[in-house]
Amino acid sequence: MIIDAHTHLRFKGEDVVDLDALLTSMRESGVGQALVLASPNRECSTERLLRVLQPHKGKLHVVGSVSPLAVRYPGKVLLDQLDRWLGDGSIVALKFYLGYQHFYPHNDSLLGPYYELLEHHDRPAIFHTGDCHVEIGGAILKYAHPLEVDVLAAQRPNLRIVMAHIGNPWTLDATEVCYNKKNVYADCSGFVCGDFSTKSERRFTSIVHEFFDYVESDEKLLFGTDWPISNQDSYCAAIAGLRFNDKAMENLLFRNAQRVYRLP
Ligand SMILES: [Zn+2]
Repeated sequence: MIIDAHTHLRFKGEDVVDLDALLTSMRESGVGQALVLASPNRECSTERLLRVLQPHKGKLHVVGSVSPLAVRYPGKVLLDQLDRWLGDGSIVALKFYLGYQHFYPHNDSLLGPYYELLEHHDRPAIFHTGDCHVEIGGAILKYAHPLEVDVLAAQRPNLRIVMAHIGNPWTLDATEVCYNKKNVYADCSGFVCGDFSTKSERRFTSIVHEFFDYVESDEKLLFGTDWPISNQDSYCAAIAGLRFNDKAMENLLFRNAQRVYRLP
């Protein structure tokens, strides 16, 4: 069993473009379940994802997203809606796009209401950490540094936190935060566009090894790819080449995702 804890879908208008491609890729790579992450823009909103993924409940899990700066003071309507979705498991987490949207994770006056909901429902916050796609443009990288997540983790020890991409290229900083803070985890998605080359695979697997060696726990890292940016099959092959024992592999490939996201 493999759970891909980090995938995306694209939309053209109201229609989802690559849902069939995702399901095919999962089947061919032996991925049984995946988390699909909403974007803060309207294009791939939480509502749209919930609508198109309804028939795939149990296989594809929705991660909601909000745009905190666009709704500086989240109204009761939005918070009540998130409350319902988190409460009935329609969404399993909320994702925040720090560098793209220019806010720190520890900006509690901006994000506090969302964190309180997540804590109440025992659901995690996911942060995009590390490099931001150059093509998207306008990103400010300092907001996406793992040490900024460390501040939040200290302020809110009851909030479960996942740093996407192990803060790449600040992977050592992210690794230290996962070691130091009980409530912080990471996913290993987004280390390549398309397929791994020999060189990029060597770098990726050495970062994963370093993470395991340093954190001294096999319960902190979650398998994730960032499909369709990264090829799922290539990711599975790279992970299969790691020299971990069976328990560590099971934790990495699906048990940690089940625990952290409280998947059914
Ligand atoms: Zn992503």
